[in-house]
Amino acid sequence: MDAIVTRGLTKYYGRTRGVEDVSLAVPRGCLFGFIGPNGAGKSTLIRALLGLIRPTAGQAEVLGMDVVRDREKILARVGYLPAEAAFWPGMRVREVLKLSAGLRKLDCRRQAEALCERLRLDPARRVDELSLGGRKKTSIVCALQHEPELLILDEPTGGLDPLMQREFFALLRERQAQGTTVFLSSHILPEVQHSCARAAVIRAGRIIAAGPVTELAGAGARRVVLRGRADIERLPGVRDLQTTPEGAGFLYSGDINPLLAALAAGDVKDLTMSEPDLEEVFLHWYEEGGAGI
Ligand code: ADP
Repeated sequence: MDAIVTRGLTKYYGRTRGVEDVSLAVPRGCLFGFIGPNGAGKSTLIRALLGLIRPTAGQAEVLGMDVVRDREKILARVGYLPAEAAFWPGMRVREVLKLSAGLRKLDCRRQAEALCERLRLDPARRVDELSLGGRKKTSIVCALQHEPELLILDEPTGGLDPLMQREFFALLRERQAQGTTVFLSSHILPEVQHSCARAAVIRAGRIIAAGPVTELAGAGARRVVLRGRADIERLPGVRDLQTTPEGAGFLYSGDINPLLAALAAGDVKDLTMSEPDLEEVFLHWYEEGGAGI
């Protein structure tokens, strides 16, 4: 069974589009990345999954439960990290964590302590004196301390330094190995590419691509770098061409034979072809209206 399923999910805020006709499936036990630039609709979809806002149309199920009807039950079984956490001023980290566990009627002290130590978060600090990263860490512990079977994390890494980001993803992978499903939104492509098995790309409220990250990144295109000269400018599969006195770099898609013929007719001293990274493919989709796969 899938951990998250949406069918034609649509949310309008009055006349403002939040998300439109989103159909998505997140398999259980998966680390799933939800990618899109600011304003694309990531938080809207996430808030709808948690029953925090009501869909205008369509349906969504989380852990087999309907997001409108079973909202309380879903919240009890999910760990949620909001994009912008607001804490009660004057409270210490320890008190925030205790309050969060208390709302679930759970004692999570041992887990909380272990997570704080791992993320180097001092539980005695006052939350309003923390940096953005410190507040993010507090939210992470709130979301993880009760060891939920599903984590829904809205831009979890903002404010974390690179070392901490690495630690955080290591933590997520450990949870995943124990069977936890992780759904995380991000506008940072490489972190999704390196950490998630599957991903969906959202633009202007609509899903423009979804699938295994390797397929999204590959999507048939190749990054080509050549040293020397070849007459490739007019080949239909070439895009993002950059030339230097030494050679050229470009993305290539479609039938490979015209490219090979052009290279053979030229004077090529060296050549590399590789899979482009997700960022290149993703930016291309954004520019040209999104082919999907
Ligand atoms: P993301 O999380 O990808 O940055 P959001 O889901 O926050 O995107 O926003 C999607 C669209 O919905 C944006 O145009 C945003 O302005 C609009 N929006 C989000 N929340 C609200 C709200 N509470 N009221 C009105 N419009 C909103």
